[in-house]
Amino acid sequence: MKRHVLITGASIAGPALAWWLDRHGMAVTVVERAPSFRDGGQNIDVRGAGRKVVQRMGLEDAIRQRTTHEEAIAFVDERNNVRARIGAEQFRGNGPVAELEILRSELARLLLDHSRGSANYILGDRIAALRDRGDKVDVRFERGDEREYDLVIVAEGIGSSTREMQFGDEVKRVPLDLYIAYFAMPRGENDGNVSRWFNAPGGRSVFLRPDNLGTTRAALSLQEKPRGYEKLSQDEQKALLKARFADAGWETPRVLAALDEAKDFYFESIGQVKMPRWSKGRVVLVGEPPTAPRRSAAWARASRSSAPMCSPASWREATITPGHSPLTSASCALMSTRPRTCQRRGRGSRSRKPGPGSPSSRPP
Ligand SMILES: Cc1cc2nc3c(=O)[nH]c(=O)nc-3n(C[C@H](O)[C@H](O)[C@H](O)COP(=O)(O)OP(=O)(O)OC[C@H]3O[C@@H](n4cnc5c(N)ncnc54)[C@H](O)[C@@H]3O)c2cc1C
Repeated sequence: MKRHVLITGASIAGPALAWWLDRHGMAVTVVERAPSFRDGGQNIDVRGAGRKVVQRMGLEDAIRQRTTHEEAIAFVDERNNVRARIGAEQFRGNGPVAELEILRSELARLLLDHSRGSANYILGDRIAALRDRGDKVDVRFERGDEREYDLVIVAEGIGSSTREMQFGDEVKRVPLDLYIAYFAMPRGENDGNVSRWFNAPGGRSVFLRPDNLGTTRAALSLQEKPRGYEKLSQDEQKALLKARFADAGWETPRVLAALDEAKDFYFESIGQVKMPRWSKGRVVLVGEPPTAPRRSAAWARASRSSAPMCSPASWREATITPGHSPLTSASCALMSTRPRTCQRRGRGSRSRKPGPGSPSSRPP
């Protein structure tokens, strides 16, 4: 008999996992709280484990066709002089500028389209309550439906409400003292295939990147202690950015001028979720929440943690126990085709990458 799995969240991890689980004989439902496909997002590098996952899903060529053609990142001063440069050819295409790069929205759409036949998608709903009975999980949806599943997989990103529901005060949200706003803007005469990163005094940075759609992707970063800016309205956030960046210099005025027209404006507080475990009974976390600081390399972790190379066998043996995560361990991402159960790594065993916007990393 087929196992019934509910995945919550249809961004990167959810659809990728839906595809894999279908291939492993599961009946999959994906529920997404947004009423329609969520567009938006910046350039995402496809490298390392993430690249292996898309190769195995047969998506590498489709991603290549949609690549942003970013050639390098140049760190510029206020006169637009290049002070440092990192090219895509460096680090064998797997460095800070990956040879393969795609907009987040295009990747999400590819994964969704690829997995449409693998799962029943429900948009505009979410879990209102769940109860793990040991052998099944009872789920009540906000729109009123009640169903039971063999497994509930939470792929809701950093702000997950189902995670809080199931794990309560085990969830620790650690702010990384950074706000970032993202949006698309008209391409300017200096915008080519080289991204430009400008740091201004006061913990501010402006990052302009090419895309394959004829626009420029802008990111404004602000290093500040948590002040709840993410809870402001969009108009208030835009006003805040205009005030903070007013004297930043370089090409910042044209970036600020584009703010009012930005339809895909996305503002967030960068943080990290820390969890002592990634599964509790029959509820499992995948994707971003248990594994990555917001953004940096998060999508690669999301997609690789969704490649359940090791899960089906372990599920059959019902080995979803504390300390074991059949889905989220990085070791699962090493694309072995052998089924196995994954041991959660101990503290400090994972090398931690700096968060986006921090001096030694790149924004998404
Ligand atoms: C609109 C958007 C723009 C983004 N822009 C960028 C970017 O520019 N650069 C970058 O590196 N990363 C971006 N990300 C995040 C990136 O997708 C993740 O960092 C990473 O890929 C991990 O993906 P994920 O699937 O684990 O989580 P996320 O991509 O965060 O997706 C979580 C999904 O779950 C849904 N969801 C949340 N709560 C519930 C709920 N209770 N019930 C049902 N569904 C729920 C959300 O609507 C979302 O679709 C963006 C994400 C979104 C949603």
